[in-house]
Amino acid sequence: MAKRKRHDAIQSGRAIVASASDVDIDSFTVMPDGRKMQRTVFGLTEEQVGRIRAGYTCVKCLEDHAAPYPDACSVCKFPMRPQQAEEFAKDFRGNIRYGSEMSDEDELAAAEEQIQRDAYDKATALGLIIPKPSIIVPR
Ligand SMILES: [Zn+2]
Repeated sequence: MAKRKRHDAIQSGRAIVASASDVDIDSFTVMPDGRKMQRTVFGLTEEQVGRIRAGYTCVKCLEDHAAPYPDACSVCKFPMRPQQAEEFAKDFRGNIRYGSEMSDEDELAAAEEQIQRDAYDKATALGLIIPKPSIIVPR
């Protein structure tokens, strides 16, 4: 029996855009030549994750398709039908809170303070006596 030819994947024209992305610190992809590639974690809404789970959205490049589980993604050619579910299970990290409730300014100040504190602790540990730095600058 001849293998039934499936339709090519049809893009819905609505590639989803991740609201956040970050480098995955838990895993990496090992290339055939042995290089290790960083992987990306996308921050997605529940609805977006639902569409990936249902096979509409490519788990690799986030291209959205009109029908679920095409043979291959129309954009990156990832074999969605045979591999999407497995890949999703492997990559899904559950609900991770992205970002910070601190403003960038506060975060910068906190980082700056940490650096000063570390430097002070190091100097103290080495027996150098330096005055405790004052880094809070009133505006
Ligand atoms: Zn894709």
